[in-house]
Amino acid sequence: MQTQLFIDGRFVPALSGETLATLNPHDNSEIAQVSMAGRADIDRAVDAAKAAFPKWSNMAAADRGRLLLKLADAIEANADELARLESLDTGHPIRDTRNLDVPRTAATFRYFGGMADKIEGSVIPVEAGFLNYMTREPVGIVGQVVPWNFPLMFTSWKMAPALAAGNCVVMKPAELTPLSSLAIAELMAEVGFPAGVVNVLPGLGHVAGQYIAEHPDISKVAFTGSTAVGRKIVQASSGNLKKVQLELGGKGANVVFSDANLDAVVQGSAFGIFHNQGQACIAASRLIVHESVADELLERFIALARSIKIGDPLDPSTEMGPLTSQLHRDRVLSYVDIAREQGGRVLSGGKAPDLAALAKGCYVEPTIVAAKPTDRVAQEEVFGPFVTVSTFSSDEEALAIANGTEYGLGAGLWTQNLQRAHLVARQLRSGMVWINCYKRVSPASPFGGVGASGYGREMGFEVMREYTQPKSVWVNVDANIPPYYPR
Ligand code: NAD
Repeated sequence: MQTQLFIDGRFVPALSGETLATLNPHDNSEIAQVSMAGRADIDRAVDAAKAAFPKWSNMAAADRGRLLLKLADAIEANADELARLESLDTGHPIRDTRNLDVPRTAATFRYFGGMADKIEGSVIPVEAGFLNYMTREPVGIVGQVVPWNFPLMFTSWKMAPALAAGNCVVMKPAELTPLSSLAIAELMAEVGFPAGVVNVLPGLGHVAGQYIAEHPDISKVAFTGSTAVGRKIVQASSGNLKKVQLELGGKGANVVFSDANLDAVVQGSAFGIFHNQGQACIAASRLIVHESVADELLERFIALARSIKIGDPLDPSTEMGPLTSQLHRDRVLSYVDIAREQGGRVLSGGKAPDLAALAKGCYVEPTIVAAKPTDRVAQEEVFGPFVTVSTFSSDEEALAIANGTEYGLGAGLWTQNLQRAHLVARQLRSGMVWINCYKRVSPASPFGGVGASGYGREMGFEVMREYTQPKSVWVNVDANIPPYYPR
C-alpha cells in the first residue's frame, strides 16, 4: 500500500513531514497514515509536470494511447487488490468494487487509450486563396481535485482523457480516501509512464486543493465535489483565468408515471438511491410518483429496502456498506430530524442499524421519507441512502417538481408511452436523463450537469474539448492574393 506523495515518478514524504490517518469506515480503525501535501509539495509537482510536458505532449499520440491501454491491463491484473483497497478505504461493498468500480476504471483508461490518436482537427471552408485549419492542442498542466465517493473510478475519469490529449496532471484525491489513487500512480510507474506526467498528492482541500485552483502555472482545474467548494474553485482560479470544469452536486428526480412497469421501477430506483449507500451525485434521491400507483409502488419499494443486506464491505454477500465517514453519517442522520421538523414522515429506516457487529461503523439504514417537494430534504443534497417520496397528478406537475431544485445533473423517468418519454426527457432540466433505467454511465457517453450541478462534461468526445484548446491556422495558398486586406 502506497501512503506517500507521488511526485516526479517517485513516492516521497511531504516536505513538512505531515500525515493524516485514513480510516476504515466499517469500524473507524486506522488503515494508514498518509502524507499530506502542502503548498511547497504542489509546487514540486507542478515543476515536475512542467518538465515532463514538452516530451509528453509531443510524443506520438498512439504511444500515449498505448501506455493508457497497458495501464488498463495492469488494473485488471490487480483487480482483486484494488477492489479490496477501495472497499477498505470507502466502505463500498466488495461485490460492487470488484464488479463495477474496478472494471469501469479499466474500461475508462482503455476507452481513452483508444481515443488518444483520434483527436482530429478540421479544415474550415473560408474564402478562396486561403487554407484555414484547426488543430486541438493540450491545455498544459492540469490540476484535478476529486471527492471521496468513487475515488478509484474518478481517478480514471479525470486522468485518462487529460493524458490522452497530452496534458500533464497534478491530482489531489480526497483526504478521506487517498489510497486507490496512489495505487493507480504506482501502476502507472510500473507500466512506464514517464516521471512527472502524473503526480498524485493527498492533502487537505482548503490547503492543497485551494492552491491547485490558484496556481499560476496550472492552466486548467477539473473539479468533482460539492457545489459550495465548486464556487470556491471558480474564485481561486481567477488569478490566471484558468479553464475550469465543474462536476458538482445533484438531487436526482426519478419520475414514475402511472403506466410504468413497477417491477423495473422498484429495482431501478433501489439501485439508483442505495448503490454506494446513496453517496452518488447522480443518486435517485427524489422519487416522484403518480398518485394512482404510489401505494403499490411504495409497499414494494419499502419491502425491497428492508431486505437489503447491510454489513462489512469486505463480506462478498454484503449489499450495502457504511457511509465513508462518521462525520458524514451524522450529517445524513441529521436530515431525518430536519424532515420531521417540516412535517415529513419516515416510512422506513431513519437510523443506524440495530446490529452490534456494526456498532463502531458509519452505517445508516436505507431511509425512505414522505416529504413535500419544497421541504429541505427534497431540495438539499443529503448524499446518503435517503430518498424522499412525493406524488403528482399530471405530467405538468411531475415536471415542475422534477425541475424544482437548483441542481440539474441526472434524472430518470419510467413510462411505457414512447411519446411521453421523449417529450418529458426534452423538458427535464438535466445533463443526463435515463428512460426506464437509472444511473447508466459509460466512458463513451457525456456526463455532467447544468445549474448548480456545474458545467463541462466528462467522458466521450465531449471531454476532449475540455482537455484541449483549438488553434486556428491561416495559410495564404495563392501567390496572387496580397497578404493583407485591400484598402
Ligand atoms: P467536497 O466538495 O467537500 O470535496 C471534494 C474535493 O474538494 C476534496 O478533494 C476536497 O479535499 C476538495 N476541497 C475541499 N475544499 C476545497 C477548497 N476550498 N479548494 C479546493 N479543493 C477543496 O465534496 P465531497 O464531500 O468530497 O464529495 C461529495 C460531493 O461531490 C457531493 O456534493 C457530490 O454530489 C459531488 N459529486 C459530484 C459528482 C459529479 O460528477 N457531478 C460526482 C461525485 C460527487
